[in-house]
Amino acid sequence: MAKFIFVTGGVVSGLGKGITASSIALLLKAHGYKVFMQKFDPYINVDPGTMSPYQHGEVFVTADGSETDLDLGHYERFTGEEMNYTSNITLGKVLKAVIDKERRGDYLGGTVQIVPHVTDEIKHKIYEAASSTGADIVITEIGGTVGDIESEAFLEALRQVKLERAAEDTLFVHTTLVPALYGSDELKTKPTQHSVIDLRGAGIQPDIIVCRTPVLPPHEVMAKIAMFCSVPATNVIASIDVKNVYEIPLLYHQQGADDIVLAKLHLPTRSFDIGAWQRMVDTVNALQGEVHIALVGKYTHLPDAYISVTEALHHAGYHFGKRVCVDYIDAEELESAEGAASVLSNYDGIIVPGGFGQRGTEGMIAACRYAREKHKPFLGLCLGMQIAVIEFARNICGLTNASSTEFNSDTPHPVICLMEEQKGIRNMGGTLRLGNCPCDLQPGTLALKAYSSIHSQSSIANYPLSIQERHRHRYEFNNAYRTLLEQHGLRIAGINPDLNLVEIIELPDHPHYVAVQFHPEFRSRPTHPHPLFVSFVGAAINQDFGS
Ligand code: GLN
Repeated sequence: MAKFIFVTGGVVSGLGKGITASSIALLLKAHGYKVFMQKFDPYINVDPGTMSPYQHGEVFVTADGSETDLDLGHYERFTGEEMNYTSNITLGKVLKAVIDKERRGDYLGGTVQIVPHVTDEIKHKIYEAASSTGADIVITEIGGTVGDIESEAFLEALRQVKLERAAEDTLFVHTTLVPALYGSDELKTKPTQHSVIDLRGAGIQPDIIVCRTPVLPPHEVMAKIAMFCSVPATNVIASIDVKNVYEIPLLYHQQGADDIVLAKLHLPTRSFDIGAWQRMVDTVNALQGEVHIALVGKYTHLPDAYISVTEALHHAGYHFGKRVCVDYIDAEELESAEGAASVLSNYDGIIVPGGFGQRGTEGMIAACRYAREKHKPFLGLCLGMQIAVIEFARNICGLTNASSTEFNSDTPHPVICLMEEQKGIRNMGGTLRLGNCPCDLQPGTLALKAYSSIHSQSSIANYPLSIQERHRHRYEFNNAYRTLLEQHGLRIAGINPDLNLVEIIELPDHPHYVAVQFHPEFRSRPTHPHPLFVSFVGAAINQDFGS
């Protein structure tokens, strides 16, 4: 039977609970345990798929096609494990399940209530995460802050799990803020004390307190937190602000966090191997030289909207021992060819990431044109591939006003159009083309060279010719234009063998012009950078990626 770790947060949001949960997961995995992770989000949307990136940041897509919170990206990057549909549960998803049951008559005439029906459904999601994966330990992060009205049902469900299970089967980690007051630099423990009082009000006594703090707290501060929060002094862990988040698991390990967890859960300490992670952290701390990448998108005021792309670029930089500096450029600023040149000439490479809607697309087209004409290394992701196709159709094939039917339903040249299976769909939630789809890499292409040269993830099937990558889109390369575009020099480098869909395009006679219909960024790991990001960053620093 699995053990359960619950990670709550107090005082403020944005403390890094996801990094805390991921760091603990990595350490337990390094002890040889099979760990699985889960996030509860207390909002009423069924999933974040329909939310604006400005509200929510990136929507992370799992291999099984779930649209999830960006924290799941941290979970996968830290643990190297694939998350699934049980990994992100919103209050909306729980309520929908309960109401669907009520409409079916499953409650046999009973009055349906938060306790026990909603809390039972939440507990079912926790136990399902364990049973669907066979994990030794499930780590569940509770979004939001203790004391929020929205999270009450989740906390009540956790309290019940603790009651239902033996004492050694559950463990509660509470993450709080220990701020330093401006002027005195004195670390204050009162907010932590009060958030633990709130947690106790929900019937939960934390076992471990993780304190987010600007500097390492002196012993007295840690002792005070321990005393007021009723935990042993050893169980107060400092999580100091660091430049490199991948260092955090090592900082927790130095403070004995993993041994404390294993002791409480009555799990034997096993041989501990974190060598590959340690080597990666050492590499990151010794990076030399910079490479500058322009990310041209429409959600640039919130870098969290592109967190997996940014991380994937950093990971590729680690491969070369270089720091990748990413600037987020509002596509609307590039709407003229001159505008694109004046901004983009300062960069070593250009990336056009995913996105939805027409705003900014003319600026992205200008960025693609600039990259193509000036031989700047280029990587297009999802919308980025669609934009690259439109630019090529307009400026090389002479198809004036070529577009995607997403932006212009009357375009005379719909080089990107709605997929056949999407045409009857009216419901926007969860109906995109989602998750893993196969792609056959074509001989003589840069994509094949990249995937063959670089250490790949185990989930790549039939390595190296056929790959699986994650998708999230509704529109598609229009095969009616394929021959024409190929005749003008566009290279089709990857094809979905089941549906004959174009997955990757390239330009020969260009150092690196590659665009993909999928999202490779979701599979990049700090210790295993994604081949396409490595080939792109390699081109940006003018270094062969195989070397
Ligand atoms: N808006 C485009 C589509 O739906 C691209 C989506 C994306 O970039 N994720 O096909």
